[in-house]
Amino acid sequence: MADPIAANIDHIRERIARAARRAGRKEESIRLMAVSKTVEPARVRQAVEAGIRIFGENYVQEAREKIPALGPGIEWHMIGHLQTNKVKYVVPLFDWIHSVDRIELAGELDRRAGKLGRTLNILIEVNVGGEASKSGAPPQDVPALIRDAALLPHLRIRGLMTMPPYSENPEDARPYFVSLVKLRDAIRALAIDNVSMDELSMGMTDDFEVAIEEGATIIRVGRAIFGRRPAR
Ligand SMILES: *Cc1c(COP(=O)(O)O)cnc(C)c1O
Repeated sequence: MADPIAANIDHIRERIARAARRAGRKEESIRLMAVSKTVEPARVRQAVEAGIRIFGENYVQEAREKIPALGPGIEWHMIGHLQTNKVKYVVPLFDWIHSVDRIELAGELDRRAGKLGRTLNILIEVNVGGEASKSGAPPQDVPALIRDAALLPHLRIRGLMTMPPYSENPEDARPYFVSLVKLRDAIRALAIDNVSMDELSMGMTDDFEVAIEEGATIIRVGRAIFGRRPAR
């Protein structure tokens, strides 16, 4: 029987290539992250064998068990809401943190990374939809947050991440992606030291093609690779 995970990944890569072409972008400028929350290590391994090298996890306890089990050669990205008291577990496991939305969290990540002699790649999570239920910094707070976080020596601020309000229609996400791009451009124009703003983490199973058309550099895809997740 054909491996459905490998077939799903092939299909997504074709869709990435088509969306990139439509937008006049190079396919290589878009990195596919497989979101592996709730997915057991054996199935994550199938995605590794199909060529995926970047995986995203949301839950600290799950990641603490899964990441060591999968061994080296994989880049792990923390994409879930992060409590300051969990930072000590996260720093040794992850290369990138996509969910930095407050200076206290940035400060703790920096302190723990420094202790381990590491530098972490950081994205600032932005609540572009202004939803009370979502984490992420309000857009108007992001420039000040970045100015402060840029002073922390063990963090490298690479760009912005967002998750737009849920909708059935992927086109509804487009204005939120556009506003993240505008915010990125505004922060770039400030030319803050230690801040590169080259990465935009946006787009998931239902809307990654729209995100690519608007400039995503990292798309975070779970269900289209691994199938539906159990309700949590
Ligand atoms: C779960 C999750 C994803 C993946 O969602 P799918 O709809 O399964 O592709 C992406 N980003 C974040 C932050 C998530 O929590």
